[in-house]
Amino acid sequence: MTEINVPPKLLKSAAAKQKFQHALLDWFDEHQRDLPWRRNRTPYRIWISEIMLQQTQVATVVDYYRKFVNRFPSVRKLAEADVSEVLKLWEGLGYYRRARQLHAAAQTIVEQHRGRFPTDFDDVLALPGIGRYTAGAILSISKDQRHPILEGNTIRLFARLMEMRSDVKATANQKRLWAFSESMVPQKRPGDFNQALMELGSELCRPKRPMCLLCPVNQFCVTFKKGLQAQIPTSVKKTKYETLHEAVVLIPRKNKFLVRQCGPGERWEGLWDFPRFEINPLEPDRVSQLLASSVKQLAGLAVQLESTELTIKHAVTKYRITLEVYRAIDVTGRLSKQPTPTAWKTARQIASTPMSVTGRQIADHFLESTDR
Ligand code: SF4
Repeated sequence: MTEINVPPKLLKSAAAKQKFQHALLDWFDEHQRDLPWRRNRTPYRIWISEIMLQQTQVATVVDYYRKFVNRFPSVRKLAEADVSEVLKLWEGLGYYRRARQLHAAAQTIVEQHRGRFPTDFDDVLALPGIGRYTAGAILSISKDQRHPILEGNTIRLFARLMEMRSDVKATANQKRLWAFSESMVPQKRPGDFNQALMELGSELCRPKRPMCLLCPVNQFCVTFKKGLQAQIPTSVKKTKYETLHEAVVLIPRKNKFLVRQCGPGERWEGLWDFPRFEINPLEPDRVSQLLASSVKQLAGLAVQLESTELTIKHAVTKYRITLEVYRAIDVTGRLSKQPTPTAWKTARQIASTPMSVTGRQIADHFLESTDR
């Protein structure tokens, strides 16, 4: 691996670093987006926004964030809530572990810090769901503490400034990227500086066709000077996707439908879903019969199934899932005792239950007119 200087040649001197910081902050002052979590920068609110923004686009987060802080305006309110209400507000945002960890962390803050969000870096880092990046972002943005950050946007930006041609995910390169971030963050306005880095990464230093001519720090960028934007950053670790075929079964009984809460370790732990099974797409003629025996095994109910027209294609983490929807036209027998909470719910009750994304889509598609 070629040795990479930290900081790179163009940013070695204190004067160059200062010029970079000023140019970036001036650009941020003029161009930053008006986002709800930038208006009231308490540690609590920055924490909520940072957790929501993990793996999720800003445009998607805005509404969720507003509703969330409206319903839970403080750590205490969040800690007191039932986790199912937290999950309901999170419904559709994905990566539900984040919501469960937020709730657990709020309870830890109440127990260990009397409900006040901690301002010591190690205390923040010790909370569930918070890593080095998130702790640094919360404390720099809300308290102007001087901490470096490193996430998707800044990795790309720094790799280009540093002309990092090897895998940005390699351990040695991660260390260099953190060291670069540490070396650049100023004493004054570290929070704005960190936000400006991320803003620049997302708005101008995009993965494809970065807008280098508008970039306020292009004079320090080796990648721009050498025209290597399409080659940097590189990552050899590509996600391997797996294909899955599943079927959901709608089982009605007296205007209610059978739903179950997903247990520990399941894809949507804590959320509710209709009974769902993996199916073999190579045996289309046997799907109904095999599903019926799976329902019998799971719930003790004898069902006769018919296929519906609805097929949903969706992605969850590394899985690409084709989901078919079946409907039971005849149901007999008693619901057997289940290892996770299982219930017959009306459409109205399902509407206020935190459901998996596809569970919600199916409910909206089939249950709308039953009792609302
Ligand atoms: Fe990114 Fe281009 Fe700016 Fe370099 S000049 S940091 S590649 S936007």
